[in-house]
Amino acid sequence: MPFRSLVAQPADSLLRLIGAFRADPRAHKIDLGVGVFRDDHGHTPVMQAVKQAEMRLIATQDSKAYLGPEGDKGFVALLEPLVFGRGFPAERRCGLQTPGGTGALRLGAELLAKAGVRRILVGQPSWANHAPVFAAAGIVVVPHAMFDMGAQRIDLPALRAAIGQAEAGDAILLHGCCHNPTGIDPTAEEWRAIADAVADSRLVPFIDLAYQGLGDGMEADAAGTRMVLDAVPFAVVAYSCDKNFGLYRERTGALWATTPEPQARDIVLSNLLALARANWSMPPDHGAAAVRIVLENEQLAADWRGELDALRTRLQGLRGELAALGQVGSVDLAPLAQGKGMFATLPLTPAQIEWLRATHGIYMAGSGRINIAGFAPGDIARFGEALVDLGR
Ligand code: PMP
Repeated sequence: MPFRSLVAQPADSLLRLIGAFRADPRAHKIDLGVGVFRDDHGHTPVMQAVKQAEMRLIATQDSKAYLGPEGDKGFVALLEPLVFGRGFPAERRCGLQTPGGTGALRLGAELLAKAGVRRILVGQPSWANHAPVFAAAGIVVVPHAMFDMGAQRIDLPALRAAIGQAEAGDAILLHGCCHNPTGIDPTAEEWRAIADAVADSRLVPFIDLAYQGLGDGMEADAAGTRMVLDAVPFAVVAYSCDKNFGLYRERTGALWATTPEPQARDIVLSNLLALARANWSMPPDHGAAAVRIVLENEQLAADWRGELDALRTRLQGLRGELAALGQVGSVDLAPLAQGKGMFATLPLTPAQIEWLRATHGIYMAGSGRINIAGFAPGDIARFGEALVDLGR
């Protein structure tokens, strides 16, 4: 029996946390675990603009015949100005639709592996699925420091040192914005330094842009990505629409590769299509078609931007409230105001995190990551009191 050689794998720790939260009878419990946006009522809503687009899609779609491994080309084309801006030469890039940002990461990793890239530098901490995705594609993850947890700042010297030690032909993973799990994004000057260091060392940047619009807005959140893309001949960008369009389970994403000239681009695209075909043949249509309908319609696009603005404003407001608590017990929350997006990682030990869960019904990942969108009105004061209580 071949299956007898298999070794049991641990359940995803965040999924375990969801189960424990659901089973907790305490009315005042707070869920800061799972990484989805939540409104004031703890709900993850379908955006109205997306709902409208879905209704139009249902009303007008007259065939479900296969599209092809590239998916919805209109969807990809409409995202391009949002990601690349207007200046990037179209003949230097190729892209295709993927099953979510995860599918894009996997496809990009397989492209790199096929092109002979053996290792990728990944700053720590990173999204928990990055390492398994790269490993599954046969790429060795080389972890390096880049987060100053105490100061809640990027550790640029550590990142520079890692780049300095990289080998020719290595890749480097960069979070385009709203770093998961720290919320620490480089400043414009830091992005400039990163782009120059990556270009000088001839690393292939692999940019994961999964939260565009949740930090400072769609344009601002793409600035670092664009700086890096402008500085290097070859790069990969994995994109997710699952957060900024609220499409999570619809698995809506895209992947682009950039090359110095069109001949190389055509070869890269043919490889991406072949890899996609061998993985999932074609990406699921619905989410990407809904995004396309939103973006091709002026009114729906404006509505979506308004909803995205509201979502970002909620996150910024919650960050401001947390930061206003300042030093609570052993934790200084003041720097959280500078963070972007949904996440922050707090300097708490696993024992302290467990104590907060058992004593105060506060659920967060074992790494100390909190999803800021998990706070309902009134929760933040209680969270602060719990941290004071923890310090006693
Ligand atoms: N990259 C990062 C940094 C993420 O946090 C996530 C999702 N949590 C993804 C990629 C994958 O997104 P998707 O759900 O679209 O696969």
